[in-house]
Amino acid sequence: MIRSRKRVLVTGGAGFIGSHLCEELLKRNCEVLCLDNFFTGSKANIVHLQEKKYFEVIRHDVIEPFLAEVDQIFNLACPASPIHYQFNPIKTIKTSVAGAINMLGLAKRVKARILQASTSEVYGDPQQHPQKEGYWGHVNPVGIRSCYDEGKRCAETLFMDYHRQHQLDIKIVRIFNTYGPRMHPQDGRVVSNFIVQALLDRDITLYGDGLQTRSFQYVDDLITGLIAMMESPQGFIGPINIGNPCEFTILELAEMIIQLTGSKSKIKFLPLPQDDPRQRKPDIDLAKTELNWQPKIQLEDGLSKTIAYFETQLRENV
Ligand code: NAD
Ligand code: UDP
Repeated sequence: MIRSRKRVLVTGGAGFIGSHLCEELLKRNCEVLCLDNFFTGSKANIVHLQEKKYFEVIRHDVIEPFLAEVDQIFNLACPASPIHYQFNPIKTIKTSVAGAINMLGLAKRVKARILQASTSEVYGDPQQHPQKEGYWGHVNPVGIRSCYDEGKRCAETLFMDYHRQHQLDIKIVRIFNTYGPRMHPQDGRVVSNFIVQALLDRDITLYGDGLQTRSFQYVDDLITGLIAMMESPQGFIGPINIGNPCEFTILELAEMIIQLTGSKSKIKFLPLPQDDPRQRKPDIDLAKTELNWQPKIQLEDGLSKTIAYFETQLRENV
């Protein structure tokens, strides 16, 4: 059957990134199937889309097979914050591995193009800086982050093998730390934690000496990158880094958030979690050349928009 509009499946569509992706795909006249088990996602993230004619929500766990006639699949289902993916680590690895097998099986059956939301965590605690796609990484296979890191690495392997063995039309994107509105206030990741703490004038929980680095990308930039990759010519499969190469220490991030919120919060130093990567910064030359993509939103601007979002959230939930 020839469809007049693309039908796109977004797994993890009710999550932070997934909800922004669903919204943008609808704007681009796609029919969107949002699949989620609502482990970390929420109806509140997608409630504004519910009335749209071409939007459908399906409660389903990617660990179980799923059938639908679709043209494209964005496979995002997986908890992304350390506290959430460590809550049930066996489930996390099953979500990445069995979830990938089920979605690849679906893509094979209906001949859909499929994109995997992989992660900078495949580089582990990197010994190469910045990280290029050719770097194989430095990952602890038996640590508390392994359920996520190794699950995502195995998912990449599965994607490549389905491509080599069954000629599947695949894309792999390695996403670097992303922040923005609709992160869960208790998500546990650094940007949401610090903003919520600053807005409530509570201590800022800084792990370690704060000199570890991350490179933070605003969610709108990521969405443009994900769609550019999905629409890239067949045969260009990645993996490709999508992230913002502006690198900050976590201490700098804390100070910037205190300043932008005008908070009275004090920084409280706490122990660094096990296997916490020391530094992270994407090399995005490949994305610039192949996708003509680069991030546009500066950290300060993105943080201001995110702070405004959390202010509203906190006001509505008192
Ligand atoms: P999130 O936790 O907000 O979203 C994940 C979504 O997947 C949630 O809606 C959750 O309910 C759903 N989900 C989890 N397990 C599922 C399962 N078994 N079946 C169906 N749905 C399931 O996280 P996010 O930040 O939006 O991350 C989305 C994707 O992007 C993840 O795959 C994550 O690994 C990847 N990623 C995110 C970042 C980041 O900085 N946010 C960085 C790298 C990679
Ligand atoms: N972090 C912190 N305080 C927090 C949450 C996180 O200092 O309340 C640190 C964390 O130890 C890490 C960095 O911030 O060094 C980024 O953590 P996050 O969980 O956001 O992402 P990831 O470690 O997966 O990149």
